[in-house]
Amino acid sequence: MRQRNKPWADDFLRDHQDLVIPNAKDYKGKWNQLFDNNNPIHIEIGTGKGQFIAGMAKQYPSINFIGIELAKSVIVSAAQKVMESEQENIVLINENAENITDIFEENEVETIYLNFSDPWPKNRHEKRRLTYHTFLADYRRVLNSNGELIFKTDNRGLFEYSLVSFSNFGILLNEVNLDLHVIEDPENVMTEYEEKFSAKGQPIYRCRARFNE
Ligand code: SAM
Repeated sequence: MRQRNKPWADDFLRDHQDLVIPNAKDYKGKWNQLFDNNNPIHIEIGTGKGQFIAGMAKQYPSINFIGIELAKSVIVSAAQKVMESEQENIVLINENAENITDIFEENEVETIYLNFSDPWPKNRHEKRRLTYHTFLADYRRVLNSNGELIFKTDNRGLFEYSLVSFSNFGILLNEVNLDLHVIEDPENVMTEYEEKFSAKGQPIYRCRARFNE
């Protein structure tokens, strides 16, 4: 994702702490208290500019959504999108997904979405891929027993890599879709990248995965 320097981002984040939660680690095990309900928690890692999470929150008002985005200059755009949506079942976190087990308690999360994650094609960057086994170990920890990992990408290399990574980890695949848009699915909420790549005619890959207990 192209990141423009936004000198106003710090001020924006300071003024919107009810939406982009600072000190997210303080809420570990207590996210439902923040939302003031016991609805399931779904998280998106690498939320980008927020189109997916805002659309999902509208479609599923009885689910609490938390978007995690590393780049400050990008999360402010997501925050603006969430504010426009007027959905109250979303908060955002400006953190690295590497810290996910400091932010969520074991079993606290029902679903993790990875959408168009950075592919990091060079072998020496493998550890940064969000489907590398160290990330999978963390996802398994925070997901509950019904928990699901849902992964969409346009990047065939990353998709192939991830299927092998899931398999090596003993993850069960409930769905492997090699062309998500071949049939129109009214429940599929598109991300910014998904719109861009599918408009160019590129197939979108999706898999739904469950950790074997
Ligand atoms: N999900 C959006 C979409 O589909 O349009 C954005 C996709 S963009 C290629 C990937 C996003 O993931 C970037 O905004 C990047 O900053 C974020 N990201 C990459 N690694 C991350 C990490 N370890 N933790 C949190 N966010 C991360």
